[in-house]
Amino acid sequence: MRVVLLGPPGAGKGTQAVHISRAFEVPRIATGDIFRENVRNETALGKEAKAYMDLGDLVPDDVVIGMVTDRLSQDDAQKGFLLDGFPRTVPQAVTLEDFLASESRPLDVVLRFNVPESEVVRRIVNRRVCPKDGSVYHLEFAPPRKEGLCDECGTPLVHRKDDTQEVVLHRLQEYHEKTERLEYFYWERGLLRDVESIGPVEEVTRRTLTLLDDVEGFSDPNGGEDAA
Ligand code: ADP
Ligand code: AMP
Repeated sequence: MRVVLLGPPGAGKGTQAVHISRAFEVPRIATGDIFRENVRNETALGKEAKAYMDLGDLVPDDVVIGMVTDRLSQDDAQKGFLLDGFPRTVPQAVTLEDFLASESRPLDVVLRFNVPESEVVRRIVNRRVCPKDGSVYHLEFAPPRKEGLCDECGTPLVHRKDDTQEVVLHRLQEYHEKTERLEYFYWERGLLRDVESIGPVEEVTRRTLTLLDDVEGFSDPNGGEDAA
């Protein structure tokens, strides 16, 4: 199962990726998470990416592409993967397509998560994330059981530096200018499927798993009953 998750910031990609990854037993590869880990560890990659991320700008293609192709070459990605936050530009999408074609393992489907733009800011400014396992929370819509701590691993949750109203508006602008055109790119290739990402999280998960069940060759080991 080789899947790309597309959609603006706050669309619910990361939230649903956790469920899909669990149901299909494939790794979630989230470029934003990889960058944030590098920023925390003060690696050369992290230092390079930080300034772009803080402003809500995209990190340059050459930096992102090498990082993703390395990750896709690792053992756990051979049986499939979920790409969350990549590709975000046409050059990234073309490179991904060429890379996967060279290994005869093309994408199966691209899920586009749709959410009204008015909802995005509300979702983003109150988002909290677990820096350890990538779990996603919302102070109002999806609060953790114990305030400030990840339900899964007890790690203190963080408020991302770029999850402010000002930066999210810029990230949305970047999405419209550079990423939105990928919808046509994948539609042309017959890969694009829509998920309405509104309503309770579990409902969106059910919609997503049902849709994936319909994609030729997939079968959800839990029969669409993800233990959310
Ligand atoms: P993305 O990965 O697309 O940027 P996230 O999955 O991180 O989006 O979700 C953004 C915020 O919206 C998080 O705080 C999350 O808890 C919340 N959220 C996700 N899905 C829903 C939903 N269906 N209804 C309400 N809030 C949601
Ligand atoms: P995300 O966690 O997906 O919201 O990404 C956070 C930030 O990481 C973005 O605003 C970008 O600065 C950077 N980033 C993540 N993925 C990419 C990508 N594919 N291309 C360029 N920049 C990216």
